[in-house]
Amino acid sequence: MENFLLRNIDNPNSADIGEYEKSGGYKNLTRALGMEAAEVLEEVKASGLRGRGGAGFPTFMKWNFAKADPKFPKYLLCNADEGEPGTFKDRPILEKNPHLLIEGMAISGYVLGAEHGYIYLRGEYPAAKDILEAAIKQAYEKNLLGDNILGKGFNFSLAVHQGAGAYICGEETALIESLEGKKGQPRTKPPFPVNVGVWDMPTIVNNVETLSNLPLIMEIGGEAYSKIGSEECPGPKLFCVSGFVEKPGVYELPMGTNLKDIIYKHCGGIKNGGKLKAVIPGGISTPVFPADGIDCAMDFVAVPKAGSMLGSGAVIVMDESVCMVKVTYRALKFFEHESCGKCVPCREGTDWLRKILERIENGFGREGDIELLLDVVKVMIGRTFCPLGDGAAGVVTAMIKHFRNEFEEHISTRKCKLSEAN
Ligand code: SF4
Repeated sequence: MENFLLRNIDNPNSADIGEYEKSGGYKNLTRALGMEAAEVLEEVKASGLRGRGGAGFPTFMKWNFAKADPKFPKYLLCNADEGEPGTFKDRPILEKNPHLLIEGMAISGYVLGAEHGYIYLRGEYPAAKDILEAAIKQAYEKNLLGDNILGKGFNFSLAVHQGAGAYICGEETALIESLEGKKGQPRTKPPFPVNVGVWDMPTIVNNVETLSNLPLIMEIGGEAYSKIGSEECPGPKLFCVSGFVEKPGVYELPMGTNLKDIIYKHCGGIKNGGKLKAVIPGGISTPVFPADGIDCAMDFVAVPKAGSMLGSGAVIVMDESVCMVKVTYRALKFFEHESCGKCVPCREGTDWLRKILERIENGFGREGDIELLLDVVKVMIGRTFCPLGDGAAGVVTAMIKHFRNEFEEHISTRKCKLSEAN
Protein backbone atom coordinates (compact mmCIF):
# COMPACT_ATOMS: atom_id res chain seq x y z
CA MET A 1 0.00 0.00 0.00
CA GLU A 2 1.30 3.43 -0.91
CA ASN A 3 1.84 5.72 2.07
CA PHE A 4 -0.68 8.48 2.53
CA LEU A 5 -0.43 9.61 6.15
CA LEU A 6 3.35 9.42 5.98
CA ARG A 7 3.57 10.68 2.40
CA ASN A 8 6.66 12.86 1.81
CA ILE A 9 8.01 12.55 5.32
CA ASP A 10 11.50 11.77 4.00
CA ASN A 11 11.50 15.18 2.31
CA PRO A 12 13.39 17.50 4.70
CA ASN A 13 10.94 20.33 3.84
CA SER A 14 7.80 18.22 4.12
CA ALA A 15 6.28 20.60 6.72
CA ASP A 16 6.34 23.50 4.26
CA ILE A 17 3.05 24.40 2.59
CA GLY A 18 4.69 24.66 -0.86
CA GLU A 19 5.98 21.09 -0.68
CA TYR A 20 2.61 19.89 0.59
CA GLU A 21 0.78 21.60 -2.27
CA LYS A 22 3.19 20.10 -4.81
CA SER A 23 1.93 16.65 -3.88
CA GLY A 24 -1.73 17.63 -4.18
CA GLY A 25 -2.13 19.13 -0.72
CA TYR A 26 -5.22 21.26 -0.02
CA LYS A 27 -6.89 20.08 -3.28
CA ASN A 28 -9.07 17.89 -1.08
CA LEU A 29 -10.20 20.87 0.99
CA THR A 30 -11.11 22.66 -2.27
CA ARG A 31 -13.02 19.56 -3.35
CA ALA A 32 -14.87 19.36 -0.02
CA LEU A 33 -15.83 23.05 -0.08
CA GLY A 34 -17.29 22.52 -3.56
CA MET A 35 -19.73 19.99 -2.11
CA GLU A 36 -22.55 20.32 0.40
CA ALA A 37 -21.41 19.50 3.97
CA ALA A 38 -24.02 16.73 4.05
CA GLU A 39 -22.46 15.15 0.94
CA VAL A 40 -19.02 15.15 2.55
CA LEU A 41 -20.55 13.55 5.64
CA GLU A 42 -21.99 10.81 3.41
CA GLU A 43 -18.45 10.12 2.13
CA VAL A 44 -17.24 9.80 5.73
CA LYS A 45 -20.11 7.41 6.42
CA ALA A 46 -19.28 5.33 3.33
CA SER A 47 -15.60 5.22 4.31
CA GLY A 48 -16.33 3.41 7.58
CA LEU A 49 -13.62 5.48 9.31
CA ARG A 50 -13.24 4.75 13.03
CA GLY A 51 -11.46 6.97 15.54
CA ARG A 52 -7.76 6.17 15.83
CA GLY A 53 -7.29 7.39 19.41
CA GLY A 54 -8.01 4.00 20.96
CA ALA A 55 -11.76 3.47 21.30
CA GLY A 56 -12.39 2.88 17.58
CA PHE A 57 -15.80 4.62 17.66
CA PRO A 58 -17.30 5.19 14.17
CA THR A 59 -16.41 8.76 13.19
CA PHE A 60 -19.61 9.30 11.21
CA MET A 61 -21.79 8.49 14.24
CA LYS A 62 -19.88 10.82 16.53
CA TRP A 63 -20.09 13.65 14.00
CA ASN A 64 -23.78 13.05 13.42
CA PHE A 65 -24.54 13.49 17.14
CA ALA A 66 -22.74 16.85 17.19
CA LYS A 67 -24.34 18.00 13.93
CA ALA A 68 -27.80 17.15 15.19
CA ASP A 69 -27.37 19.42 18.23
CA PRO A 70 -28.84 22.85 17.39
CA LYS A 71 -26.53 24.74 19.78
CA PHE A 72 -23.94 27.05 18.27
CA PRO A 73 -20.97 27.61 18.13
CA LYS A 74 -19.60 24.10 17.77
CA TYR A 75 -15.95 23.28 18.38
CA LEU A 76 -13.51 20.84 16.83
CA LEU A 77 -10.69 19.65 19.09
CA CYS A 78 -7.76 17.61 17.89
CA ASN A 79 -6.42 15.32 20.58
CA ALA A 80 -2.65 15.48 20.09
CA ASP A 81 -1.90 14.59 23.72
CA GLU A 82 0.01 11.50 22.68
CA GLY A 83 1.06 10.33 26.16
CA GLU A 84 0.48 6.56 26.21
CA PRO A 85 3.84 4.88 26.86
CA GLY A 86 5.08 3.24 23.66
CA THR A 87 3.04 5.58 21.48
CA PHE A 88 4.66 7.89 18.94
CA LYS A 89 2.47 7.37 15.88
CA ASP A 90 1.05 10.91 15.67
CA ARG A 91 4.42 12.54 16.03
CA PRO A 92 5.49 12.14 12.36
CA ILE A 93 2.23 13.79 11.26
CA LEU A 94 2.63 16.67 13.73
CA GLU A 95 6.29 17.28 12.95
CA LYS A 96 6.62 16.22 9.31
CA ASN A 97 3.16 16.48 7.80
CA PRO A 98 1.32 19.21 9.75
CA HIS A 99 -0.60 20.47 6.69
CA LEU A 100 -2.26 17.07 6.33
CA LEU A 101 -3.73 17.53 9.81
CA ILE A 102 -4.67 21.17 9.15
CA GLU A 103 -6.39 20.21 5.89
CA GLY A 104 -8.19 17.35 7.65
CA MET A 105 -9.37 19.69 10.40
CA ALA A 106 -10.62 22.31 7.94
CA ILE A 107 -12.60 19.63 6.08
CA SER A 108 -13.99 18.30 9.38
CA GLY A 109 -14.89 21.81 10.57
CA TYR A 110 -16.80 22.39 7.33
CA VAL A 111 -18.77 19.14 7.72
CA LEU A 112 -19.57 19.79 11.38
CA GLY A 113 -20.38 23.48 11.05
CA ALA A 114 -17.56 24.23 13.51
CA GLU A 115 -15.81 27.57 13.03
CA HIS A 116 -13.16 27.13 15.72
CA GLY A 117 -10.61 24.39 16.11
CA TYR A 118 -7.88 23.69 18.66
CA ILE A 119 -5.00 21.26 18.56
CA TYR A 120 -4.41 20.11 22.15
CA LEU A 121 -0.75 19.16 22.02
CA ARG A 122 1.14 17.17 24.64
CA GLY A 123 3.55 19.25 26.68
CA GLU A 124 6.47 16.99 25.81
CA TYR A 125 6.32 17.83 22.08
CA PRO A 126 7.91 21.31 21.99
CA ALA A 127 9.26 20.91 18.46
CA ALA A 128 5.81 19.99 17.16
CA LYS A 129 4.36 23.20 18.66
CA ASP A 130 6.71 25.42 16.65
CA ILE A 131 6.19 23.39 13.48
CA LEU A 132 2.39 23.39 13.82
CA GLU A 133 2.25 27.11 14.54
CA ALA A 134 4.43 27.90 11.51
CA ALA A 135 2.23 25.68 9.33
CA ILE A 136 -0.97 27.29 10.66
CA LYS A 137 0.48 30.74 9.86
CA GLN A 138 1.22 29.61 6.28
CA ALA A 139 -2.33 28.26 5.92
CA TYR A 140 -3.80 31.59 7.12
CA GLU A 141 -1.63 33.48 4.62
CA LYS A 142 -3.08 31.39 1.79
CA ASN A 143 -6.65 31.77 3.05
CA LEU A 144 -6.86 28.04 3.76
CA LEU A 145 -7.76 29.01 7.34
CA GLY A 146 -9.52 32.15 8.56
CA ASP A 147 -12.59 33.93 7.15
CA ASN A 148 -14.33 33.09 3.89
CA ILE A 149 -11.90 30.28 3.07
CA LEU A 150 -11.15 30.14 -0.68
CA GLY A 151 -14.13 32.45 -1.23
CA LYS A 152 -16.59 29.71 -0.24
CA GLY A 153 -18.13 31.50 2.73
CA PHE A 154 -16.69 29.08 5.29
CA ASN A 155 -14.83 30.43 8.34
CA PHE A 156 -12.47 28.27 10.39
CA SER A 157 -9.92 29.45 12.94
CA LEU A 158 -7.25 27.13 14.33
CA ALA A 159 -4.84 27.42 17.27
CA VAL A 160 -2.46 25.18 19.20
CA HIS A 161 -2.94 24.72 22.95
CA GLN A 162 -0.11 22.97 24.72
CA GLY A 163 -0.78 20.75 27.73
CA ALA A 164 1.43 20.62 30.80
CA GLY A 165 2.37 16.93 30.70
CA ALA A 166 -0.57 15.14 32.33
CA TYR A 167 -1.38 11.74 30.78
CA ILE A 168 -5.02 12.01 31.85
CA CYS A 169 -5.53 15.00 29.55
CA GLY A 170 -5.60 12.49 26.69
CA GLU A 171 -9.06 11.54 28.03
CA GLU A 172 -11.44 13.77 26.10
CA THR A 173 -13.31 15.36 29.01
CA ALA A 174 -10.10 15.98 31.00
CA LEU A 175 -8.70 17.54 27.81
CA ILE A 176 -11.73 19.84 27.65
CA GLU A 177 -11.35 20.84 31.31
CA SER A 178 -7.67 21.60 30.70
CA LEU A 179 -8.44 23.65 27.58
CA GLU A 180 -10.90 25.69 29.65
CA GLY A 181 -8.05 26.47 32.05
CA LYS A 182 -9.19 24.11 34.81
CA LYS A 183 -7.51 21.15 36.50
CA GLY A 184 -7.27 18.28 33.98
CA GLN A 185 -9.70 15.75 35.46
CA PRO A 186 -12.39 13.74 33.66
CA ARG A 187 -16.02 14.89 33.70
CA THR A 188 -19.07 12.75 34.34
CA LYS A 189 -20.55 11.28 31.15
CA PRO A 190 -23.34 11.75 30.09
CA PRO A 191 -23.67 14.46 28.96
CA PHE A 192 -21.15 13.64 26.25
CA PRO A 193 -18.91 16.30 24.69
CA VAL A 194 -20.78 16.04 21.38
CA ASN A 195 -23.61 17.89 23.18
CA VAL A 196 -21.96 19.55 26.18
CA GLY A 197 -18.27 19.98 25.51
CA VAL A 198 -15.88 22.89 25.67
CA TRP A 199 -17.58 25.98 27.15
CA ASP A 200 -20.71 23.76 27.30
CA MET A 201 -21.07 23.76 23.52
CA PRO A 202 -21.23 20.77 21.11
CA THR A 203 -17.66 19.57 20.69
CA ILE A 204 -16.01 16.92 18.61
CA VAL A 205 -12.75 15.53 19.93
CA ASN A 206 -10.84 13.49 17.37
CA ASN A 207 -7.34 12.07 17.33
CA VAL A 208 -4.59 13.44 15.03
CA GLU A 209 -4.56 10.32 12.87
CA THR A 210 -8.37 10.26 12.55
CA LEU A 211 -8.52 13.84 11.28
CA SER A 212 -5.56 13.25 8.96
CA ASN A 213 -7.56 10.57 7.15
CA LEU A 214 -10.09 13.12 5.89
CA PRO A 215 -8.03 14.33 2.89
CA LEU A 216 -7.59 10.70 1.76
CA ILE A 217 -11.34 10.07 2.01
CA MET A 218 -11.92 13.15 -0.15
CA GLU A 219 -9.15 12.14 -2.58
CA ILE A 220 -10.31 8.62 -3.35
CA GLY A 221 -13.93 8.71 -2.10
CA GLY A 222 -15.51 6.93 0.86
CA GLU A 223 -16.30 3.78 -1.13
CA ALA A 224 -12.69 3.23 -2.26
CA TYR A 225 -11.42 4.06 1.24
CA SER A 226 -13.67 1.37 2.72
CA LYS A 227 -11.86 -1.23 0.59
CA ILE A 228 -8.51 -0.58 2.33
CA GLY A 229 -7.74 -2.86 5.25
CA SER A 230 -10.26 -4.96 7.14
CA GLU A 231 -13.96 -4.88 6.39
CA GLU A 232 -15.15 -3.73 9.81
CA CYS A 233 -12.32 -1.24 10.40
CA PRO A 234 -11.19 0.15 7.05
CA GLY A 235 -8.38 2.48 6.14
CA PRO A 236 -4.67 2.84 6.66
CA LYS A 237 -3.32 2.60 10.21
CA LEU A 238 -0.14 3.88 11.80
CA PHE A 239 1.59 1.29 13.96
CA CYS A 240 4.51 2.45 16.11
CA VAL A 241 6.73 -0.44 17.02
CA SER A 242 9.31 -0.32 19.79
CA GLY A 243 11.37 -2.71 21.88
CA PHE A 244 13.23 -5.80 20.77
CA VAL A 245 12.81 -5.68 16.98
CA GLU A 246 15.45 -5.11 14.34
CA LYS A 247 13.69 -2.10 12.79
CA PRO A 248 11.58 -0.15 15.30
CA GLY A 249 9.62 2.80 13.92
CA VAL A 250 6.28 4.06 12.64
CA TYR A 251 4.70 1.96 9.88
CA GLU A 252 1.70 2.88 7.75
CA LEU A 253 -0.09 -0.37 6.94
CA PRO A 254 -3.65 -1.42 6.13
CA MET A 255 -5.79 -1.78 9.24
CA GLY A 256 -6.03 -5.47 10.07
CA THR A 257 -2.42 -6.31 9.20
CA ASN A 258 -1.40 -9.41 11.17
CA LEU A 259 0.68 -8.67 14.27
CA LYS A 260 3.06 -11.46 13.34
CA ASP A 261 3.69 -9.80 9.95
CA ILE A 262 4.25 -6.41 11.58
CA ILE A 263 6.98 -7.89 13.78
CA TYR A 264 8.63 -10.37 11.41
CA LYS A 265 7.95 -8.96 7.93
CA HIS A 266 7.99 -5.20 8.42
CA CYS A 267 10.20 -4.82 11.49
CA GLY A 268 12.77 -7.48 10.54
CA GLY A 269 12.02 -9.87 13.43
CA ILE A 270 13.44 -10.04 16.95
CA LYS A 271 16.60 -8.08 17.63
CA ASN A 272 19.89 -10.00 17.37
CA GLY A 273 18.05 -13.24 16.56
CA GLY A 274 16.47 -13.32 20.04
CA LYS A 275 13.38 -15.28 21.03
CA LEU A 276 10.04 -13.53 21.37
CA LYS A 277 8.52 -13.58 24.85
CA ALA A 278 5.61 -11.13 24.81
CA VAL A 279 3.97 -8.29 22.92
CA ILE A 280 1.87 -5.41 24.20
CA PRO A 281 -0.25 -4.60 21.14
CA GLY A 282 -1.66 -1.12 21.73
CA GLY A 283 0.32 0.86 24.31
CA ILE A 284 1.12 0.07 27.92
CA SER A 285 -2.52 0.08 29.10
CA THR A 286 -3.50 -2.80 26.79
CA PRO A 287 -3.24 -6.41 28.03
CA VAL A 288 -0.12 -8.32 27.02
CA PHE A 289 -0.02 -11.18 24.49
CA PRO A 290 2.33 -14.12 25.15
CA ALA A 291 4.56 -15.17 22.22
CA ASP A 292 2.04 -17.74 20.98
CA GLY A 293 -0.80 -15.18 20.93
CA ILE A 294 0.42 -12.88 18.18
CA ASP A 295 -1.27 -14.45 15.17
CA CYS A 296 -3.90 -11.72 15.24
CA ALA A 297 -5.30 -9.14 12.83
CA MET A 298 -4.60 -5.68 14.22
CA ASP A 299 -7.95 -3.92 14.23
CA PHE A 300 -10.60 -2.78 16.70
CA VAL A 301 -12.60 -6.01 16.36
CA ALA A 302 -10.01 -8.83 16.13
CA VAL A 303 -7.68 -7.70 18.95
CA PRO A 304 -10.43 -7.62 21.63
CA LYS A 305 -11.53 -11.09 20.47
CA ALA A 306 -7.94 -12.25 21.05
CA GLY A 307 -7.95 -10.83 24.58
CA SER A 308 -6.46 -7.37 24.34
CA MET A 309 -7.15 -4.00 22.67
CA LEU A 310 -5.80 -2.22 19.63
CA GLY A 311 -5.46 0.99 21.67
CA SER A 312 -3.19 3.44 19.92
CA GLY A 313 -1.50 0.77 17.79
CA ALA A 314 1.69 1.06 19.85
CA VAL A 315 3.31 -2.36 19.59
CA ILE A 316 5.87 -3.07 22.33
CA VAL A 317 7.94 -6.17 21.64
CA MET A 318 9.82 -8.04 24.39
CA ASP A 319 12.30 -10.88 24.09
CA GLU A 320 13.30 -13.58 26.60
CA SER A 321 15.65 -11.25 28.47
CA VAL A 322 12.77 -9.08 29.73
CA CYS A 323 11.45 -9.57 33.27
CA MET A 324 7.66 -9.39 33.19
CA VAL A 325 7.41 -8.52 36.88
CA LYS A 326 9.61 -5.53 36.24
CA VAL A 327 7.52 -4.49 33.23
CA THR A 328 4.34 -4.71 35.35
CA TYR A 329 5.96 -2.76 38.19
CA ARG A 330 7.18 -0.02 35.82
CA ALA A 331 3.73 0.21 34.21
CA LEU A 332 2.05 0.60 37.60
CA LYS A 333 4.59 3.17 38.71
CA PHE A 334 3.50 5.16 35.67
CA PHE A 335 -0.23 4.73 36.35
CA GLU A 336 0.15 5.61 40.03
CA HIS A 337 1.99 8.79 39.05
CA GLU A 338 -0.56 9.72 36.39
CA SER A 339 -3.74 8.88 38.34
CA CYS A 340 -5.51 12.22 38.70
CA GLY A 341 -6.77 11.23 42.16
CA LYS A 342 -10.43 11.99 41.52
CA CYS A 343 -11.74 8.52 42.40
CA VAL A 344 -10.70 6.23 45.26
CA PRO A 345 -10.43 2.85 43.45
CA CYS A 346 -7.86 4.29 41.02
CA ARG A 347 -6.05 6.64 43.41
CA GLU A 348 -5.64 3.99 46.13
CA GLY A 349 -5.63 0.96 43.83
CA THR A 350 -2.72 2.05 41.64
CA ASP A 351 -0.77 2.98 44.78
CA TRP A 352 -1.33 -0.44 46.34
CA LEU A 353 -0.56 -2.32 43.14
CA ARG A 354 2.69 -0.39 42.70
CA LYS A 355 3.72 -1.02 46.33
CA ILE A 356 3.11 -4.78 46.14
CA LEU A 357 4.85 -5.09 42.77
CA GLU A 358 7.80 -3.07 44.02
CA ARG A 359 8.42 -5.43 46.91
CA ILE A 360 8.05 -8.51 44.69
CA GLU A 361 10.48 -7.10 42.14
CA ASN A 362 12.99 -6.14 44.84
CA GLY A 363 13.01 -9.58 46.51
CA PHE A 364 10.68 -8.79 49.41
CA GLY A 365 7.55 -10.45 48.02
CA ARG A 366 5.34 -12.33 50.48
CA GLU A 367 3.27 -15.50 50.30
CA GLY A 368 -0.18 -14.45 49.08
CA ASP A 369 1.00 -11.33 47.23
CA ILE A 370 -0.30 -12.58 43.89
CA GLU A 371 -3.75 -13.12 45.40
CA LEU A 372 -3.52 -9.70 47.01
CA LEU A 373 -2.74 -8.11 43.63
CA LEU A 374 -5.76 -9.85 42.10
CA ASP A 375 -7.93 -8.72 45.01
CA VAL A 376 -6.97 -5.08 44.50
CA VAL A 377 -7.62 -5.45 40.77
CA LYS A 378 -11.11 -6.80 41.51
CA VAL A 379 -11.96 -3.67 43.50
CA MET A 380 -10.79 -1.45 40.63
CA ILE A 381 -12.26 -3.01 37.48
CA GLY A 382 -15.54 -1.36 36.48
CA ARG A 383 -15.43 0.95 39.51
CA THR A 384 -13.19 3.75 38.34
CA PHE A 385 -14.35 7.06 36.94
CA CYS A 386 -12.42 6.85 33.67
CA PRO A 387 -10.53 4.14 31.73
CA LEU A 388 -7.16 4.82 33.41
CA GLY A 389 -8.07 2.73 36.46
CA ASP A 390 -9.44 -0.15 34.37
CA GLY A 391 -6.37 -0.04 32.14
CA ALA A 392 -3.97 -0.23 35.09
CA ALA A 393 -5.88 -3.15 36.61
CA GLY A 394 -6.07 -4.94 33.24
CA VAL A 395 -2.29 -4.80 32.82
CA VAL A 396 -1.78 -6.64 36.13
CA THR A 397 -4.48 -9.25 35.40
CA ALA A 398 -3.02 -10.13 31.98
CA MET A 399 0.57 -10.26 33.23
CA ILE A 400 -0.37 -12.65 36.05
CA LYS A 401 -2.53 -14.72 33.68
CA HIS A 402 0.29 -15.29 31.19
CA PHE A 403 3.42 -15.04 33.35
CA ARG A 404 2.30 -16.17 36.82
CA ASN A 405 5.36 -18.45 37.08
CA GLU A 406 7.65 -15.40 37.02
CA PHE A 407 5.77 -13.74 39.87
CA GLU A 408 5.87 -16.98 41.86
CA GLU A 409 9.59 -17.40 41.23
CA HIS A 410 10.36 -13.84 42.35
CA ILE A 411 8.49 -14.46 45.60
CA SER A 412 9.94 -17.93 46.33
CA THR A 413 13.57 -17.17 45.37
CA ARG A 414 13.43 -13.56 46.64
CA LYS A 415 15.25 -12.31 43.57
CA CYS A 416 14.91 -11.54 39.87
CA LYS A 417 16.83 -14.12 37.86
CA LEU A 418 16.72 -12.01 34.70
CA SER A 419 17.95 -8.79 36.35
CA GLU A 420 20.88 -10.75 37.76
CA ALA A 421 21.69 -12.20 34.31
CA ASN A 422 21.55 -8.76 32.69
FE1 SF4 B 1 -8.67 10.06 37.87
FE2 SF4 B 1 -7.94 7.48 37.89
FE3 SF4 B 1 -10.37 8.13 38.57
FE4 SF4 B 1 -9.58 8.41 36.01
S1 SF4 B 1 -9.80 6.49 37.10
S2 SF4 B 1 -10.78 9.86 37.22
S3 SF4 B 1 -7.44 8.99 36.35
S4 SF4 B 1 -8.51 8.76 39.67
